[in-house]
Amino acid sequence: MIPKIDVRRLVAGKTYEGELSFEYEADDGLVDIPYVRFAAPAEFRLRYEIFEDNTVEAKGRVTFVLEGSCSRCLSEARQTIEEDVCGIFEPNGGDGETYGYSCGVVDLSEFVRDSVLFALPPKLLCRECSIPDGEQE
Ligand SMILES: [Zn+2]
Repeated sequence: MIPKIDVRRLVAGKTYEGELSFEYEADDGLVDIPYVRFAAPAEFRLRYEIFEDNTVEAKGRVTFVLEGSCSRCLSEARQTIEEDVCGIFEPNGGDGETYGYSCGVVDLSEFVRDSVLFALPPKLLCRECSIPDGEQE
């Protein structure tokens, strides 16, 4: 379940920052690498801050595990991906670089999905194949 940030309620209660941690069951369709899938839901750990103009910043880290066939030798491979993520949410709509939100509630769904997409590597390599070129043999 992707949580929402209820900005109106938080501000009314004079709370301007907080932490969120949750799991996101990412769709295997997001993975563009053949024969590779998510081994488990992605884990998000975020800190958010609400600024004076009600802009919300969420930053933190996403972690997920990919498993499937090595993109080079096709043997079984598994890799943990960890990536710093950051999103800005503006009450009157985003400008392409930022996200928008309406009715005083930030919906993190698009940001969460984008974060996983941007963190995905172009290929999955097994341990042998991930040794940098030149160190092989
Ligand atoms: Zn390999």
